[in-house]
Amino acid sequence: MQTFTKAQYIWLDGAIPTQKLRGKTRIIEKHVSNLNDLPDWGFDGSSTNQAVGDDSDCLLKPVFFLNDPTRIGDGIIVMCEVYNADGTPHKTNQRAKLRKIAEECKDHDAWFGIEQEYTFFDGIKPLGWPDNGFPAPQGGYYCGVGSDEVYGRDLVEDHLEACLAAGIKISGINAEVMPGQWEFQVGPLGPLEVSDQLWIARWLLYKIGEEYGISATLDPKPVKGDWNGAGAHANFSTKSMRSKGGIKIIEAACEKLSKKHAEHIAVYGALNEERLTGLHETCSIEEFRYGVSDRGASIRIPMQTKIDGYGYLEDRRPSANMDPYQVCFKLLETVCIGEDVPA
Ligand code: ADP
Ligand code: MN
Ligand code: MN
Ligand code: MN
Repeated sequence: MQTFTKAQYIWLDGAIPTQKLRGKTRIIEKHVSNLNDLPDWGFDGSSTNQAVGDDSDCLLKPVFFLNDPTRIGDGIIVMCEVYNADGTPHKTNQRAKLRKIAEECKDHDAWFGIEQEYTFFDGIKPLGWPDNGFPAPQGGYYCGVGSDEVYGRDLVEDHLEACLAAGIKISGINAEVMPGQWEFQVGPLGPLEVSDQLWIARWLLYKIGEEYGISATLDPKPVKGDWNGAGAHANFSTKSMRSKGGIKIIEAACEKLSKKHAEHIAVYGALNEERLTGLHETCSIEEFRYGVSDRGASIRIPMQTKIDGYGYLEDRRPSANMDPYQVCFKLLETVCIGEDVPA
């Protein structure tokens, strides 16, 4: 019998302001055991806002792959970077920029744990919401149980299984504050690893949602008014933050971040201003504050980190639709570049 692998090549398109996943399948006529088994490929960039029609070919370079548990037999999901015909990274290729800074910062051994919040939609309304009007106000849904409180659990569980089977370092899931809203966490991992795995986890969520006829949106404020938005908190640490006395390094990092607030907000997701209002466990987009255990701050220092004297910080500003390649880039740039690593 002939051996073949169904390789789901995926990449980020040129959609503005929020890049979107695209993918197509290539049959590789062997078992794929490393990146060298995967050929470069191309696509029509004029259909993805990445090229014009008379010069439309863009190049796909495989950079990372893992198992595809959504397919029968030998299947893999292949994250690709997009290149121009002349071999330079395409301007939409944010991963190439992260790759460079990650290399410069590698002695810091930065870890990221990202909390991906999202909202299920059934057609035009959040899953489980009444056809007319609203569900009971928020209060009991967060980490809730029961068919009157949470909606879409079977899909959430299928997604969790798929992530684990794929080899994604998913660290947990929970029902969120607004009904129909959920969260999963990926990490802690290095910057490229967490970003690739988060994008693939998003791919799996959308794809498995097709089987249920349910879509997942990363809209930062899917329902206006007195309903929580959806974020993607970025938990971050370096080797020195995780070592004895690391709290001093964490506080110094917060001071550095305070001076670059606007630059960070610029890459933390479109329409984030609808979410960062100062209400619903957020800090206003106009302000920067950090504090221990403070879920109304831009950056929260977890209680345990304060008690231990070392650990990590939680940047609560990124919105659910953020691009992890850009968020990790910015955190490394602000916190690690120009900073010595203690021996
Ligand atoms: P919250 O209390 O804000 O809801 P979660 O438990 O949802 O927190 O997410 C915390 C995230 O922080 C997880 O993804 C976890 O892997 C990550 N994390 C834990 N320790 C570190 C660390 N030292 N550096 C970076 N991320 C970390
Ligand atoms: Mn969380
Ligand atoms: Mn959450
Ligand atoms: Mn959080």
